[in-house]
Amino acid sequence: MRHDPCEAHPDMKDLAATFFVSLAFDFGRYALVACAVFATFWLWLGDRLHHRWLRPRAPETASMVREIRASVRTVLIFAVLGTVVVFGRRAGVFRIYLDPHRHGIPYLLATPLILIVLQDTYFYFMHRAMHHRWLYHAVHHEHHISRHTSPFTAYAFSPAEALAHGLFVPLVTLVLPAHVIAVFVFLAFMIVRNVLGHLAIELYPRGFVAHRLGAMHTTTTHHALHHLRPHTNFGLYFTWWDRALGTTDPTYERRFAEVTAPRGTAVEIATPASPVARLPLHRSALLATPSPSRLRCPAPAPTARP
Ligand SMILES: [Zn+2]
Ligand SMILES: [Zn+2]
Repeated sequence: MRHDPCEAHPDMKDLAATFFVSLAFDFGRYALVACAVFATFWLWLGDRLHHRWLRPRAPETASMVREIRASVRTVLIFAVLGTVVVFGRRAGVFRIYLDPHRHGIPYLLATPLILIVLQDTYFYFMHRAMHHRWLYHAVHHEHHISRHTSPFTAYAFSPAEALAHGLFVPLVTLVLPAHVIAVFVFLAFMIVRNVLGHLAIELYPRGFVAHRLGAMHTTTTHHALHHLRPHTNFGLYFTWWDRALGTTDPTYERRFAEVTAPRGTAVEIATPASPVARLPLHRSALLATPSPSRLRCPAPAPTARP
């Protein structure tokens, strides 16, 4: 007679079920958003948006297969952390609650915004640390193998980097109460922004970064420049920390203006950080990349070194 460990240990059955639900959720949100964005913007609208591409359009199937393989490993790590959060919540370790009235509806509605701002700060400083030469090759290099990104780059992390990103929710909910729906809204926002950040097609309208509110938000161009020149543009959702600490790519606004301008026209740059200027720019400059050796080992920055 075969021995079923789950029969003997109901907790193991619960653990396995929680892990697989967590795995389905994490894999589902990555696959759904990355595939939908890839199909919509690369396959369907790719030709129509030809002037908005931030990368050469030569197919790189092998690169995307590598990114998907790394992303599946990331999803497995997220699922393990998700299982820890579920059991930790039951044990009262994590302050994720189910009753929407426990801290009031206004707090529930504000929680995703609080999580977004906190994660942006967590990400910026962790990201800069990962570019230090002590950590870069062991932790962050895998993500930067993609010199030109795709929607599938979003989760292409080494195991150590996946763990660092996945620890945000467990760490923050040790102290911050968060309704379970607010956590799901935050996780949905995170994957959508992450995939769009790696889209390699600029979707924001012309003049977006010239607006005071738009200038606060990172764009696809912002993160594409980070993959090309890894010693600048460390921000995730907002440009606050890059601006405050002087790590914004000096060509960012010019390159955003260039890629959002009608092809072959002069580009008008008007941003809160720079005076209005009309410059004849060429899209080819955006596709120019540093030497491969520099990409493998990012150039030193004032406080974040490869
Ligand atoms: Zn990236
Ligand atoms: Zn980086």
